[in-house]
Order: sequence, then C-alpha cells, then structure tokens
Amino acid sequence: MKATILSIGDELLIGQTLNTNAHWMSQQLTAIGVDVLRHVSVSDKRAEIVGALDTAMADTQVILITGGLGPTSDDITKDVLCEYFGGALVFNEAAYENIRQIFNRRNREISEATRQVAFLPDNCLPIQNAFGTAAGMLFRRDDRVVVSMPGVPYEMKAMVENGVIPYLQSEFTLPLILHHHFYTAGVGETQLAELLTDFEKNKPADMGLAYLPSVGKVRLRLTLKGQDKADLQSRMQAARETVYAAVKAHVYAEEDIPLEQVVGRLLAERGKTLGTAESCTGGYIAHLITSVAGSSDYFKGSIIAYSNEIKQQVLGVQAATLEAHGAVSEQTVREMLSGALKVLDTDVAIAVSGVAGPGGGSEEKPVGTVYIGVADAEKSVVLRHGFTNNRERNIQLSGVLALVMLKNFLQDR
Ligand code: ATP
Repeated sequence: MKATILSIGDELLIGQTLNTNAHWMSQQLTAIGVDVLRHVSVSDKRAEIVGALDTAMADTQVILITGGLGPTSDDITKDVLCEYFGGALVFNEAAYENIRQIFNRRNREISEATRQVAFLPDNCLPIQNAFGTAAGMLFRRDDRVVVSMPGVPYEMKAMVENGVIPYLQSEFTLPLILHHHFYTAGVGETQLAELLTDFEKNKPADMGLAYLPSVGKVRLRLTLKGQDKADLQSRMQAARETVYAAVKAHVYAEEDIPLEQVVGRLLAERGKTLGTAESCTGGYIAHLITSVAGSSDYFKGSIIAYSNEIKQQVLGVQAATLEAHGAVSEQTVREMLSGALKVLDTDVAIAVSGVAGPGGGSEEKPVGTVYIGVADAEKSVVLRHGFTNNRERNIQLSGVLALVMLKNFLQDR
C-alpha cells in the first residue's frame, strides 16, 4: 500500500515553517507497513491542491493532508476537498460541541468565522480534534483513503495516532514489519559496509539494510516485511547472527540506549570508579557520563586541564614532557592519565588532549589531531586520532571515541 503526504501552506514554501509533519507522518506510516511514495508541499491555492490531489489519487492509496483547515480566509482545504469529492458542507453537531467546550474553557465567545469550522462535508468521516477546533476529515473513494488534518503538529499527531492508524489497520491487511537495530560507534559507514559485503551479497531480496550515521556513530537497521510473523522472526534471527558476527567489535547496543549508559553499566558491573582529565573537550566527556542517572555510583569527577599550568600543577605533567612533545602528545596524555588516577583516586581514568580548531594546528599536528587515553593502575592505552576541521564535531567525536575506548578497555579486563 502506497501513500502520499500532502502538506499545504505558503509558510512551508517560503521556508518559514519546517515541514516536521511530513517527517513524523512518514515514520508512522512506515511503521505500520505503508510505503510513502512521495512528499508534496503546495501553497493554499485551489489549483495547486487539486493538481496535487489528482497526482496522488492516480498512484497512491493513502493520502494524508495537513494544513489550511482554520477559520481564516486563506484556509481553503476543506472547501476544495468537499468540492473534489462532490459533497456539501453541513453543520456538524459534534464538531460544534468540541468548539463550544474549548471556547468555554477559554471563557471566549464563538465568532461566526469559528462557527463555520463546524461545517463539514456530508461525505466525510469526521475525526475528532482533541486539542483544537478544526475536525479532521476522512474521505473514502473506492480503496483510497484521503485524510485532511490541521497543520498544528500536536493536533495532527493525536488524530493520526487515535484515528488514522487504527482506521487503516482495521480496513486493510497491512504487512508486518520487523526491524532489528545495531548501534555502532567509532567506525565509519564505509568500513561497516566493507565488513558486510558478503552479507549484502547473500541477503534475501526482501531484506533491507540501512546505514544511519550520526557524529561518531552509525545505526544499522535490518528490515523484513511479510505476513507470517514466525517466519519473519526466524529469518530476522538468522540475519541478526550473521550481521553481528561481522560487526560485533563495533556494536555497543542492540537497543536504543546511549553509549554513555552502556559504559556506565560496565563500570557498575565491575565495581570500578572513573575520573576524567580533559583538555580540548573541556569537560564534555564528564558531561556525557553524568547525563546518565545513577552515574554518581561510579563517576568521581573531572579535572579540566585546559592550560599547561593546570596540566602541570594539578595533574603533575612534567614541564620537560610539555617542552619536548607538546601538550597535544601521547606522552602528555599518559602523564595526564597518571595524574588523574592519583588526584581523583579512581580505578580507571580517561584523558584527552587535542587541537579542536579552528586555529592552533601545525603540519605535524593539524586541526583535528586528538590523543585519547584510558588507564588503570596496571595498563594504559593512548591512541592518536585525526578528526575534522570543525571544532564542535571534533569535541563530539572525542567524546564518542573516548567512551568507545573505555568500553573496549573494560571489556578486555
Ligand atoms: P489553524 O488555522 O487552526 O492554525 P490549519 O490547519 O489552518 O490550523 P495552518 O494554518 O496551515 O493549519 O498551520 C498552523 C500552524 O501549524 C502553522 O503556523 C505552523 O506552525 C504549523 N504547521 C503547519 N503545517 C506544518 C507542517 N507541515 N509541519 C510543521 N508544522 C506545520
């Protein structure tokens, strides 16, 4: 079953309003097995709306429309749809009662323009608006369903969840959709794709594999569509095992939980405490770790050693080390690690020093060069990374990579 999402409103076309409705409705339709064929945005003009409807009616079965339902003269969607489906506007008691209650609560008189909102096409199924005055309208032509809803996102969302989705599920046999996600960090899309070359080559034609990247992370999504739940589950399980075997070194979760929470669990399970010594990240790693509820069980604190002075005075980095190798160096990070373990008195420490940019780079250490280390009393690991030219991204990447290093360090112990 295919769908069109039709967004109506000049404000969308002039770039005043971001079309979040189309984004959200696509997610909802996809989740119930309806394929969204296209998003269309048009102005509040009769010819535009009719033209978009004609196209949508020609090749899609579900058409979800938002916008242009209010009481003002530029809101013409209702009139256009009424005419398009050959109905007549009639006063709808239930819609008026909804308006009356809203206006009573606000202690306001109902204007004539607002009363007009209670007139609905006699050939539509009204959908109650729990949060506003304009009712939704569901038209049915043969096996096609056209639903018009207000543009206001929270009004539309309630209608989709409580009206549209249940209607589509009860009227049509929709395929079952099964997803499985792998949350990976510290590895790029290309490298993951290389690891999954064999899987891609041999996977069944009806199985989807999507790469969904964000800073320092890639979410892998396996998708299967069908009617037989048990069959889908067993095929998904087999695929899950193959993919996991190929990429397991980079997977930190198979459910939607943050990396910092995964690392927190590892620390708590092992009864280890953590501290950080941060230069270029300025406390960002500590912020990530402490954004997890209960992190006080394992996180003791952080030293933001931004200047060389603090690196020396608080962490005990040697002047000779800074002189010989610079603040952005493996040697300095090793000494920052020892200092953090001592001063913060923790089992494990993270230390980071780098050139976040945009200035401060050199030929030997260009912007984006970041040394990240993890250590306990017996072992320390320091890695050099070459990130980007973007300061914000370098700080975020340092945070993700530090957590990945800590995860690997804890899992190896
Ligand atoms: P009302 O007149 O009751 O506000 P309406 O159906 O006429 O409802 P619009 O006037 O088109 O809706 O839009 C109302 C508000 O909803 C807009 O100001 C905008 O902020 C938001 N909106 C409209 N369309 C979208 C969209 N596609 N995505 C996100 N927000 C939207």
